[in-house]
Amino acid sequence: MSGLFQDDPADQDDAPPPPNGPGLFGDALPVALPEPIHATPYRVLARKYRPTTFDDLIGQEAMVRTLRNAFAVGRVAHAFMLTGVRGVGKTTTARIIARALNCIGPDGTSGPTADPCGLCPNCVGILADRHPDVIEMDAASRTGVEDMREVIEATRFRPMQARTKVFVIDEIHMLSRNAFNALLKTLEEPPPHVKFVFATTEIRKVPITVLSRCQRFDLRRVRIAELSDLFGRIAIKENVTIESAALEQIARSADGSVRDGLSMLDQAIAQAEGVITGAQVIDMLGLADREAVFELMDAVMGGKPAAALSITDRAYERGADLGALLQDLLELLHTITRLKSLPSLRESQDLPEAERTRGAEFADRLSVPVLSRAWQMLLKGVGEVEIAPDRRAAAEMVLIRLCHVADMPTPGDLIRRLTAGGAPPSPTGGGGGGGRAVVNGAAMISADPVALAGPRFGTFRDVVAWVGEQKEAMLHAHLLHSVNLVRFAPPVIELRPQAEAPRDLSAKLAALLTAATGTRWTIAVSRDTGDASIAEQGNAADTARKTAAADHPLVRAIMMAFPGARIDTVHDKTADVYGLPVTVADVPDMPEFAPPDAEYFDEDPMEIDL
Ligand SMILES: [Zn+2]
Repeated sequence: MSGLFQDDPADQDDAPPPPNGPGLFGDALPVALPEPIHATPYRVLARKYRPTTFDDLIGQEAMVRTLRNAFAVGRVAHAFMLTGVRGVGKTTTARIIARALNCIGPDGTSGPTADPCGLCPNCVGILADRHPDVIEMDAASRTGVEDMREVIEATRFRPMQARTKVFVIDEIHMLSRNAFNALLKTLEEPPPHVKFVFATTEIRKVPITVLSRCQRFDLRRVRIAELSDLFGRIAIKENVTIESAALEQIARSADGSVRDGLSMLDQAIAQAEGVITGAQVIDMLGLADREAVFELMDAVMGGKPAAALSITDRAYERGADLGALLQDLLELLHTITRLKSLPSLRESQDLPEAERTRGAEFADRLSVPVLSRAWQMLLKGVGEVEIAPDRRAAAEMVLIRLCHVADMPTPGDLIRRLTAGGAPPSPTGGGGGGGRAVVNGAAMISADPVALAGPRFGTFRDVVAWVGEQKEAMLHAHLLHSVNLVRFAPPVIELRPQAEAPRDLSAKLAALLTAATGTRWTIAVSRDTGDASIAEQGNAADTARKTAAADHPLVRAIMMAFPGARIDTVHDKTADVYGLPVTVADVPDMPEFAPPDAEYFDEDPMEIDL
């Protein structure tokens, strides 16, 4: 019978693999076929080394164990659902199941077995993809209900040669709703001589009614180490010398798919002159950018700007967009931070293995504050590159900046360092170690005067501020800059106007105040020196705050850690709009208790912008 299916010399591609011994996917290597090299057209590796037995399958131990048990006790399901990413062995498994069901052994008398002989006519026919009772179809190209009716019609006939008719339907999720419904009736009452093996990359698109009638197997991505072992064994078999770095690169890029990895190996062999190196594979697969991202991460986190720039130079020469490179770096940083926060992710199948293993190395090295600082800088940097006239220059500046902060302590580190052995943390302070410097311990409760008629003037500054609110911009400016207060005794104010003050200043102010309060105000001109102008006092207070801030040990430490930093502004939340301290005595009518929405100013009286 085998002759029927093996007499087509034009289709060498479908010739069965060597029938003797276990294949390459298992532990032992098969005996080399005496192939006349020049006469045989090149067969792709994935086909040449397709597993033919359960032992040959790599990376699917759980499924193989279950199937073996089922065959051992003679309880084989009538429908299987195989799911997994492309190239993990779904249709290969389907064919092994078909052979296991139909093998009759070399002597033609054996029953179903988990270890098909590979020699009997059924094994040979199925191996050659030419058995009339093993029907494979691709649901991606035959989605309609008519296609399914053909299948159902075919199930009604007894097998021609085999014990069991096996229908292998790949990409089953592509079937139309009507086709699924038609199939469902047959699945509910399958003829005894029929088995179905379905395969899908998208199990969620398969109706639950169909799923519930199948034994389901989730084929997992094959691990990098398993893949690289397999590819190494095949390379030896093919008389190809390949560096282990090259095998590793191919295994990584295959991302769990044996078939994808073997295609890459095919390509590498076709291009190779002599030894296949890791660099050649990186080049061939266009992995340079991916590699560059890992190298860049290493350079910036190690504080090595020269290394970072030489990586970007090479990337630029290759034609890579440096903005995209930064974006990739940002994504890698996110992955590393997730790995740091979620250790279980290191075992997860959701992340490509390369990201998990190499990302985990970074996660072990870098602290969360360092990672989040880099994240913020990079996020900002990516935005800068988008609007920069020269993307390359902007990206390089971002990387240099990152290199420079890489080995600097975080503000949290500084605070911990400075407070270690110092004063014990205050019981109410929370000890959070945030990055904010608390410079001024003064406490103050703010409250708006409530339900008081007319403006209330506790100080001359209150008067000036009120004038500012009256849209008297010129008068306000002169009161700030051009007068010295001699005496404040409402409703009398004594002022010493400076030369630039307008002559009608006193009259104008008196009129405004009188109109607003209903009390007659007197603005007297004095020859006494008086206080400095409010503007002068504000400047002096600002200078004093900066001096005090610069003198604070924490700020000194920050200035040392970040060379070139300077104090830009010191925000004092206890100061009024003129930058001058408000004292309780200045506000005689303040309520004794704070309203519910009062702000407590003692939490962060000063913020320092560096
Ligand atoms: Zn057999």
